[in-house]
Amino acid sequence: MSKFEALPHVVSEEPIIAWRMWQAVAVLNLFSDDIVYRLRAVSKHTEWKPRITLKADCFALVSSLAKSSNRQVSVHLIGFKHQPPDIYCKCGIYALRTKEGLFNYFVGKKMDPFKPWTVVSADKRGILPDRIMGCTVFGQVSLWGEIIEGEDGYRAQYAYPYDLTVLADDRRIADSLREQYQVDTRIELPQAHH
Ligand SMILES: [Zn+2]
Repeated sequence: MSKFEALPHVVSEEPIIAWRMWQAVAVLNLFSDDIVYRLRAVSKHTEWKPRITLKADCFALVSSLAKSSNRQVSVHLIGFKHQPPDIYCKCGIYALRTKEGLFNYFVGKKMDPFKPWTVVSADKRGILPDRIMGCTVFGQVSLWGEIIEGEDGYRAQYAYPYDLTVLADDRRIADSLREQYQVDTRIELPQAHH
């Protein structure tokens, strides 16, 4: 049982502010030839679209439905269909209660949030110049709708970034995220944590 499943209860009709990490990835706008930066989830790479509420999906339900095409688990699905987040599932948009909890979580995953990285997937056709990098972004996130509270954080039905901190010395990324998501965006350099 994960910590997120402990002490489950629906806590809110008011938005809750919690903490998250994302990856900022370069996206080429084919119409304008501009490069913009978008947020995506660190683990499942869910895309967070600018100016659009992110609604939770249930990956368990998706994978079960995929299997049901060969009629293995279709019986299981009766009664399992639910609106994320569900107490008996692991779905929902995850966020941590505190900034310290957020960083501890990623340190535990052996991830260095201050290490910029090249966007290889967007560069295969040689369209993006080599200098384009992705980086880690953290910030506060608004959660609303159904919210299940765990020991260290939440699983929510709806979410949108509240503010963003870019962990790289790259004003283009910060400016682009601010313009795309219309939230306060700042830069924090690695030495700020030393
Ligand atoms: Zn679920």
